[in-house]
Amino acid sequence: MQLVFATNNPNKLKEVQALLPSSITLLSLKDVGCLEDIPETQPTIKGNAIQKAEYIKQHYGHDCFADDTGLEVKALHGKPGVFSARYAGEQRNANDNMDKLLSKLQVKDDRSAQFKTVIALHINNQLHTFTGICEGYITKEKKGNKGFGYDPIFRPKGYESTFAEMDLGLKNNIGHRGKAVQQLVEFLNNLTQTV
Ligand code: IMP
Repeated sequence: MQLVFATNNPNKLKEVQALLPSSITLLSLKDVGCLEDIPETQPTIKGNAIQKAEYIKQHYGHDCFADDTGLEVKALHGKPGVFSARYAGEQRNANDNMDKLLSKLQVKDDRSAQFKTVIALHINNQLHTFTGICEGYITKEKKGNKGFGYDPIFRPKGYESTFAEMDLGLKNNIGHRGKAVQQLVEFLNNLTQTV
């Protein structure tokens, strides 16, 4: 069975492929000739994941899954959320985004936040979604240089270090994306066993 993972990140593709049964071959966007930007115009993280998976099915005819992630900060009523990548502007700069968030939280006592990843899977003409959440706190300053995005200012609950100070293996185990991927893999493993 061939399944498109709506990404062009070869690392993400390799990581997920390694967890799947050999009967499933993952294809990237490039593999199916999708070179354009896929629209992400929905007001929610889940809506965007679904929009991307449905776009591939509609335009390229392949079963597909897509992921979308956002950081939801409690004191900011869930922002930046779906706007996480471009919180400080269309330049999509991680440092600018973190600076904006730190300055918004300067006057707030509650620094709790969560990362949320939704994976939407379009398969056999049905849609399934899988959600992974990682709860934590926004630190007062940036710490660490691993990872990407908001990692230097996010400290997961129960840990002393930020995501940017952690090894990728640990981040994947306790993190939002890893949790959503685990559910997807379990679902696909069950599906191939019953076929
Ligand atoms: P995407 O949906 O995976 O492209 O994520 C959207 C935005 O959320 C990214 O541009 C980052 O700013 C942020 N983000 C997503 N995942 C992570 C993560 O694991 N750590 C830190 N920031 C993240």
